[in-house]
Parts: sequence; C-alpha cells; structure tokens
Amino acid sequence: MKPIYKRILLKLSGEALAGQQKMGLDYDVVLDICKAVKEIADMGVEVGIVVGGGNFWRGRSSGKMDRTRADHMGMLATAINALGLADALEQLGVDVRVQTAISMQQVAEPYIRNRAVRHLEKGRVVIFGCGTGNPFFSTDTAAALRAAEIDADVILKATNVDGVYDSDPRDNPDAQKFDTLTYLDVLNKELQVMDSTAASLCKDNSIPILVFNLDNPENIVSVVTGQNLGTIVKE
Ligand code: UDP
Repeated sequence: MKPIYKRILLKLSGEALAGQQKMGLDYDVVLDICKAVKEIADMGVEVGIVVGGGNFWRGRSSGKMDRTRADHMGMLATAINALGLADALEQLGVDVRVQTAISMQQVAEPYIRNRAVRHLEKGRVVIFGCGTGNPFFSTDTAAALRAAEIDADVILKATNVDGVYDSDPRDNPDAQKFDTLTYLDVLNKELQVMDSTAASLCKDNSIPILVFNLDNPENIVSVVTGQNLGTIVKE
C-alpha cells in the first residue's frame, strides 16, 4: 500500500483519546491511535498532529468563568494530551517532538515553524500543543493554521462519525452522507465539520479536509493510502 500524501496534518479531538470513559486519557486508546500513526510514518508520510483538549476542559463550556482564562485552561489541556501522545509514540519507537504555542520550555519546545518543518523532513512526528496560543479559537482552527504553515497536503480530521451528513445520523436514520463537499457548502449550510473560522482558513488556503471515523484507528492508514472513506471538503 502506497501513501497518496507526502505531508499530513492529523487533527485528533481530545475526546478521541478518552475512550469509553469520555474524560481524561485512556492510554490503551492512545496507543492504538499511535500504532496507526507509526504505520503511516513508517511509510514515509510526514505527520503533524494537532490535538484538542475537550477530554479535560473546553473554554466555551466553562459557564461563569472569564472566557479568556477558561480558554487558557483549555489550551493547557491540549498540552497534556500532546505529552500523552508523545509518550505513546516514543514507546512505539517513533521519533517525536512536541511544540507548544504557549511557551513551557521545561516541558516542550516552543512552536517555531521552520524548526517544525525540519523535524518533519527528518521523519519526526511533530505534535502541536496549545492550539493557536490565543483564546477564542479552537484546535480545529489551529489545525488549519498549522496545516497552512507547514504546507500540509491535507487535514485528516478524525471524528466519531464516518463522514459529514445532512443531519445527525444518531438522531435521523434517513440522514444522507456526503462523499464530497465544497468549503462554501460547509460555511453556508453550517455543517458541523469544523467551526467557520477553521473552514474559512482552509478555504482561503485551499487545504482539503478529510473527515473520517476514528472508531477504528486503522482508518488513518486507509485514508492515507487513498481508500474511499469519509467525506472530503475541497474547492
Ligand atoms: N483553545 C483556545 N485556543 C486555541 C485552541 C484551543 O483557547 O487556539 C482552548 C479552548 O478553550 C478550547 C480548548 O482549548 O475549548 C480545547 O480545544 P478544543 O475545544 O478545540 O478541543 P477538542 O474539541 O478538539 O477536543
């Protein structure tokens, strides 16, 4: 099996790392995801990962808290996930670096674009923590931003549904799955692919987004080798 991409940006939600418990980290689940990441890295694919933090904290669900502070907490949550992923990848023998958008130099490298690209060229997986480093943004927007910066061929957005539907397939048995969509479809129909800031950034920089189901982590290998899974959003 040959990869169809040279460099990818994998977006993992925090929830994807929590397993059945929905909160915190399930290390076995993390290991399973990382085994698939190792498979594609071993094929020579350059892998950047942006990880969410919703398994610990989400700024927008913080109730009475000051939003900026709550978002700072959310970004720190993504750093925990980034370290968890890095640990699992290292245990599997993968060369990995964590770079964070908020400096925590005792813990991880600061985000430096050229350095990240150099790591990728050397075959290291780079995990981007702390989102964009700014409150009021999401890690989907961070994924779009980092993908543009590192010139990724595609954003692989791992979710818990097998693509984008015209309504929620968990509520509506007649929901129709889209195979392809345009950025404008996503923006105009307010489809729950990613938030509008992230979708606009992808549109402006022509970065395709492939939405697929992570229930089976091997799907990461399937989409990278060109199997027809999920929904692709492009021009
Ligand atoms: N966050 C932020 N700026 C960013 C990215 C994330 O403030 O650029 C905060 C925000 O509070 C968000 C939390 O980090 O709710 C976790 O990220 P996200 O909700 O995107 O994680 P996911 O839903 O993918 O697990």
